Amino acid sequence: MRIRHIVLHIGLVGLVVGWSLVAPAPLIAQKGLYPDLQTVVPKHLSIQNMQQREILRVTNGIANRGAGPWQLRPEFKPDVTIARQEILDANGEIVQDPIVGTYVFHPEHNHWHIESVALLEVRKARDDGTGGRWGGAVVNDLGQVQSIKTTFCLIDWYKLDDNAPNAPDSGRTYWDCERDLQGISVGWVDQYHHSLEGQQIDITGAPVGIYYLVSTANPDGNFLEQDPKNNTAWVSFRLSRDSNGNPKITEIAHSPCDTPGMCGEQATNR
Ligand SMILES: [Zn+2]
Repeated sequence: MRIRHIVLHIGLVGLVVGWSLVAPAPLIAQKGLYPDLQTVVPKHLSIQNMQQREILRVTNGIANRGAGPWQLRPEFKPDVTIARQEILDANGEIVQDPIVGTYVFHPEHNHWHIESVALLEVRKARDDGTGGRWGGAVVNDLGQVQSIKTTFCLIDWYKLDDNAPNAPDSGRTYWDCERDLQGISVGWVDQYHHSLEGQQIDITGAPVGIYYLVSTANPDGNFLEQDPKNNTAWVSFRLSRDSNGNPKITEIAHSPCDTPGMCGEQATNR
């Protein structure tokens, strides 16, 4: 239903350019200014023993490096709050507002989240941890696949780089997690700190070796954006164990990044 709605909005464009209806948002003939969601290199990777479980924690961030804001507006229905993505033109007029998901209440955070914002995965390396070649997602001792789709509240948390193009000079545009507008402005990052509930991956029982922590924004292609193929960042690490079997991780490398902000150097330890 959701996909059909998006197709209704962009289907005509797709037909004109011969674009496949199953593809994500088109790269050409966009109506309005699209955001472009890119994942900041994950930071603060650590492993903790919690109640006999081995929990990997990480901070990840999503930057908007597109031409327009990533803006979501709630639409209240009796049983559900729908999220519509608003695409603006250069004059700030809404030129598209497809349904892209729902607002869900997150009891641990006590505020409203949007679904399918990011995907966190731990994958076994198929190389030495420097080349970004990985295999399947790790399955822990409980049989849980460590590929976790996350919901988030979207806000402007910090500026990606001070010289971000089109970044607003003054303050945040999106700052709260109520059932109001949520989003990320051009040149801003929303960050999900490693201490938050949900920023954890249970890799209990994983054998020693080299792994990738892979973080992908907009993993289902629900949200309209300029380029859905530049959404992933990773950090690789070696998992070792001491003589008592306690896990230890050592970072090896991370995905390429082109500004200090995208490399995670601005990431705040909130
Ligand atoms: Zn939250």
